[in-house]
Amino acid sequence: MIEEPKAEYRSGIGTDVHRIVEGRKLMLGGVYVPYPAGLAGHSDGDVGLHAVIDALLGASGMGDIGTLFPDTDPRWKNIDSKELLYIVKEQLEKKQWEVVNIDLIIHADKPKLEPVKGQIKRCIAGLLGIDFTAVNVKAKTNEGLGDIGTGEAMAATAITLLRKKPKRTL
Ligand code: MG
Repeated sequence: MIEEPKAEYRSGIGTDVHRIVEGRKLMLGGVYVPYPAGLAGHSDGDVGLHAVIDALLGASGMGDIGTLFPDTDPRWKNIDSKELLYIVKEQLEKKQWEVVNIDLIIHADKPKLEPVKGQIKRCIAGLLGIDFTAVNVKAKTNEGLGDIGTGEAMAATAITLLRKKPKRTL
């Protein structure tokens, strides 16, 4: 009896935190969010996309964002993190990984992210070439507690599931 080849599945998790500073555009999940301050960082500081990238790299066994895009490399200075996610997408494709789903949490007390959650979903799904429904975005406040609660930082947590199509053998 010939056994059907099975798809391989891997999950990955990613977290990130960035300091809130004046004079930077606030980029979250690839979307510009109007706010008087933004996130510090070597790149555009997009904490949401960085968590997603680390989840994808974790699931595919490709290390972490700091190894792929070191902050000592001038190529990544002020780079749009959407470009980083796109590079990761190409790496996943090379290794035949498909993204099954992504669940992203953005931790921020301000601004209210409800109005941009849909945009973030569409942005991430579009960059990865996956269905809109395969990306979920949640926003959580920190109830005024800690660095996030006092508006000094924003953080993000992401989880993903990847699937590798079985190789057809005759
Ligand atoms: Mg980061």
